[in-house]
Amino acid sequence: MRLLIVEDDAALCRRLKADLAQAGFAVDTADNGVDGEFMGSEAPYDVIVLDLGLPGRPGLEVLKNWRAGGNHAPVIVLTARDAWHEKVEGFKAGGDDYLAKPFHTEELIARITALIRRTNAKVGGRLSLRGLVLDEERQCIVTPKGRSVALSGVEFRLLRYFMLHPNAILSKTRLIEHVYDFDSEKESNVIEVYVNRLRRKIGKDWIETRRGQGYVLRVPD
Ligand code: CA
Repeated sequence: MRLLIVEDDAALCRRLKADLAQAGFAVDTADNGVDGEFMGSEAPYDVIVLDLGLPGRPGLEVLKNWRAGGNHAPVIVLTARDAWHEKVEGFKAGGDDYLAKPFHTEELIARITALIRRTNAKVGGRLSLRGLVLDEERQCIVTPKGRSVALSGVEFRLLRYFMLHPNAILSKTRLIEHVYDFDSEKESNVIEVYVNRLRRKIGKDWIETRRGQGYVLRVPD
């Protein structure tokens, strides 16, 4: 899962990026409304965290422009404490959730996770498929035989993306866009390497290769 944080408070932004990366997300950041709007339009983010008070262009305008341009990425709006009108304006402009400042990072992570679940029509509980259970807190996978296997950051992000899109053909390009941030090197053969590592960890028949198309996490109905 790949996130964009648009926030001009540099210290807060640094802390959020570190905490969210720790929680298993690929994170890009922008410190003003103009860059934020551009980045949010260029890459397919799974969730965008948007501050309202931004230099360059106000957050509300950024959000309205995204929606007017057909960008429906889930957006969590950061509002000032007790500013109920900001929440209302945020929802009207197309926001999906809000969080009042100051907040605990844990609450933001919980809201991001809930929003991802909601967007992908998964309700509550752990992400699990055919006995394969993703433990998002410990960033490990529990196999149908009950074996718990640790995952690296990239493996975890990749597998979570697969598990949120079972039976869909996922191209290498799409996987790269959702698993890496801007700063990472993006070579498509790297996905091959990580898919093979996942196969070694969860069993090789879960992820099928579709020649010239990409990969499918197969889950029989
Ligand atoms: Ca601000």
